[in-house]
Amino acid sequence: MLKATKVRIYRTDEQVIQLSKDFGSTRWLWNQSLFLMSKTYKETGKGVSAYDMKKRIPELKKEFEWLKETYSQCLQQSILNLSQAFINFFEGRTKYPTFKSKFDKQSVQYPANVKLQGEDAIKFPGNLGVVKAKIHRDLPIGKVKTVTVSKTPDERYYASLLIDDGIAKPEITSEGKAIGIDLGLIDFVVTSEGSKFRNPKHLKKHSKNLKRKQQKLSRKTKGSKARIKACRIVAKVHGKIARVREDFLHKLSRKLVNENQVVVVENLAVKNMVKNHSLAKAISDASWGKFCTMLKYKAEFDGKTYLEVDRFFPSSHLCSSTLLPIQKMDLSVRLFDCPHCQQRHDRDVNAAINIRNEGLRLLALGISATSQSRECKPKGFWT
Ligand SMILES: [Zn+2]
Repeated sequence: MLKATKVRIYRTDEQVIQLSKDFGSTRWLWNQSLFLMSKTYKETGKGVSAYDMKKRIPELKKEFEWLKETYSQCLQQSILNLSQAFINFFEGRTKYPTFKSKFDKQSVQYPANVKLQGEDAIKFPGNLGVVKAKIHRDLPIGKVKTVTVSKTPDERYYASLLIDDGIAKPEITSEGKAIGIDLGLIDFVVTSEGSKFRNPKHLKKHSKNLKRKQQKLSRKTKGSKARIKACRIVAKVHGKIARVREDFLHKLSRKLVNENQVVVVENLAVKNMVKNHSLAKAISDASWGKFCTMLKYKAEFDGKTYLEVDRFFPSSHLCSSTLLPIQKMDLSVRLFDCPHCQQRHDRDVNAAINIRNEGLRLLALGISATSQSRECKPKGFWT
């Protein structure tokens, strides 16, 4: 079974230069190949095979000698990734592939021959060599497959490792405890058992800080040194916020998957909701989509069931005890006295119970857990 994990790496000055060459060369090759493939597609209506694209590399190396400084397999991988992007497009899963910019997140992928050296180094093939790393103790044991090295806007470097632990993927079962999850803005997660989990406290503090730093940045003259410096500070705060958020999402999804055999969430179709402007920021902050993706792959790795119920299912408009409809309430109403069962319901817990029950109903009907849910891959490896 493949497991993905991300470790921070600490590069020397030479390695910074090498990596920026590698980022540049693989990006250039991607863009160059995309141009050619688009041209062919427009003229003939057909794609070009990855095999034919890879065959061009030796010729290109003669013309553009600097390509030779990047490890060959990284160049080939760039083409394989592009080819996969085209397949995803042709099969209707994604939009047409786009050109990569040096202002996007930078990364390079090593498909093989990367080795771990103890707890504090990773050995890469080619010019990059041995890079210092902070390797966690709980790193999965097994064969290192693909490794993606990436650089964040605040100049941190990470290696995302895909490790094959040699163990077969467990059969997914739904025998055992089931939980329903209601995702919200006030509480990030409310469960059918009545537990509530708020967004991390620090996040608000960091967001305020970000706003302040962005205002400072906007006052600096374009092209000035002070502006570059302010830009770097803003990137740093962005990085910090992303790390706090990701850590929170990882820990919470891990906890919920560990404690349950069946995890049911509402299919939010987040994209449709983001049209509302005031909600948009809060929704993207809350990172629901990311959270569901984490729940899904963690559940699948552990042989557990992850299920999304239809977003038109009226989870907030049913009494969870009697299944009778309740009148629409203003979003500010958190507790209500139910006209059907005479109990006082917590709005979110009531919704979470309905979500769990709907999930169990679908399972009883034999609806597959994965067939209707989102396309998902562990983070880090595919980016
Ligand atoms: Zn009720």
